Amino acid sequence: MKFRAATLGALAVAAWLLPYGLGGYSIHVVNIALIYALLAIGMGLAMGISGQINLAQVAFFGVGAYTLAILTTDSGYGFWAAAVLAVLATVTTGLFVGIPALRMQSHYLGIVTLGLALGFINWITNASVTGGADGISGIPLPTLPGIDLSSEYLYYYLELVVCAVGLGFGLFVVRTHLGRRLRAMRDDSLAAGAMGAEIPLLRMTAFLFASLYGGLAGVLYAGLIRYVAPETFSIGNMFILLAMVVIGGRRSLVGCVVGAIGLTLIREWLSDFSTYAQLGYGVVVVLMVVFAPTGLAGIPSRAKEFVNRRRLRGRPGEDRARLHPFQPYEPVESPASAAVPLLEIQSVTKDFRGLRALDDVSLTVAPGEIRGIVGPNGSGKTTLFNVISGFYRATSGQVRFAGRATTTARPYTLSLLGVARTFQNLRLFGQLTVRENILVALDRTKTHTIWQYALWQPGVVRRERRLRRRAQELLDRFGLADFAEAAPGSLPYGIQRRIEIARAMAARPRLLLLDEPAAGLNGEEVRQLADIVRSIRDSGTTVVLIEHNMGLVMSLCERVTVLSSGGVIAEGTPAEVVATPEVIEAYLGDSAPDHPPAPPPPAPPPPASPPPASKEATR
Ligand code: ADP
Ligand code: MG
Repeated sequence: MKFRAATLGALAVAAWLLPYGLGGYSIHVVNIALIYALLAIGMGLAMGISGQINLAQVAFFGVGAYTLAILTTDSGYGFWAAAVLAVLATVTTGLFVGIPALRMQSHYLGIVTLGLALGFINWITNASVTGGADGISGIPLPTLPGIDLSSEYLYYYLELVVCAVGLGFGLFVVRTHLGRRLRAMRDDSLAAGAMGAEIPLLRMTAFLFASLYGGLAGVLYAGLIRYVAPETFSIGNMFILLAMVVIGGRRSLVGCVVGAIGLTLIREWLSDFSTYAQLGYGVVVVLMVVFAPTGLAGIPSRAKEFVNRRRLRGRPGEDRARLHPFQPYEPVESPASAAVPLLEIQSVTKDFRGLRALDDVSLTVAPGEIRGIVGPNGSGKTTLFNVISGFYRATSGQVRFAGRATTTARPYTLSLLGVARTFQNLRLFGQLTVRENILVALDRTKTHTIWQYALWQPGVVRRERRLRRRAQELLDRFGLADFAEAAPGSLPYGIQRRIEIARAMAARPRLLLLDEPAAGLNGEEVRQLADIVRSIRDSGTTVVLIEHNMGLVMSLCERVTVLSSGGVIAEGTPAEVVATPEVIEAYLGDSAPDHPPAPPPPAPPPPASPPPASKEATR
């Protein structure tokens, strides 16, 4: 902490004293570098933090600069009034450019944003209002009382303050709940939606940030150069900007700044060899993507990971971290009226292009129940969960949760109503720590409250403290405290499954959907799982679980629903369903020879009954 404060202080003093050691041209280059740093922060927030491939950053830069130029020259606005309008215009453009992100992602989004940027460049090159290829000159000097901004030395301080505030704000966002949600969305937008994150709004937020920083950079640029022309906003410069972010480290805003400043200086230094330089950046970017995908900023943590791994390999047993016992929830009295069902599924059908995954499924779950869903592979169990939790929309039929029609509700709406789930294939946020995974799920704030970030930061800080306290409690309850700072992917399967349950329970849901929670667990872990699920139910949460492990289903569930080829073939107590002829046929038929049901308990045990545990490799 002290070390960090000292480093920050030293950096601030160095930045403050820098102009004293520089000549007139050097300070100009530094001023340009700071403008690129702002652009890179915006790009890092959209691409690295939120995972929205945004190749329109130069267009945002251009909209800011051109709006300011037009307003101050043609329309006679003062510099600062025009600056505010220019930033607003850029943010509006940003939200418009972000609309495609609601429908497409990854490289498709990259192509669309690049196309929009090209359209913008074409327009400024040809329109008369933008001065065509000549651009617009005669932009007035920004005025500040007592400071002559025509001096590039003093302009440096203006930029320094804007950059420092911009970086500080960006880091504040990244390290608190909004940034955590953006990062969760980047890692797995489906899982983030299931945790109550409003994905469409978050995607727009990413573009809002990118354009905000782009607009600020545009305004500062126009004020510095006092002339705008199309070549500044070219695709070539877009590529340089991308190179800055990739080389510096897209997931770290400080990395983006270092990349931007470093590359601007190198570019200046190599200006005599500009043809080769461009090629050189390309090569460096390729090398970076291959050998250091997290950029310069990611190298220290990768090195640390490497050293840690070596150390642990050298001394086995050194790693003291272990899974602690689960501490049961406080049981609550059973809910008053179990007569009103918590979940009602009425004649739901789900078709996938000619394949009927669910066929007229009806099922009702009472509050306080532990319901088992069993059935051979491909019988539609996961599809049923996807329909309940809003990932798929039923082709026909109705879903009602807690008395409301939720057939068409989105995952985040259902999450906020009290439906939580785990995934058959484990969908933890890979780049977040275990603690952060839990924090994302604990956070129930609506995205529209992000106005607090702009206007009331103490509110954000207070919420963050509260979340962290609750995260620690939850980590302790699930015995995960030793792994709080670990990356989920580095942990054994059994621990990852437990993290997923803890994450689903973070919001204290009314209904918990567990998709094959015992898959990949050993015998002792399965026993612990049974205790955890019972305690969750006793705490007032209704549980529906899909499971192949018949031993677990028999001991845990009060009622079991059996699916086969998308239809319900039996429902009742575990003993009842295993005695149903259809069930025996479904299990012993061709569809799933691996999954014999456990023998019905009342019947005399056959000699050498097969172990009930599933041999299936989880997908
Ligand atoms: P289970 O979980 O019981 O093993 P699923 O619900 O995963 O089965 O799958 C049921 C059927 O629906 C399978 O035939 C599967 O291939 C199909 N299915 C599931 N999801 C999709 C999808 N998104 N697109 C097409 N087919 C799907
Ligand atoms: Mg499944």
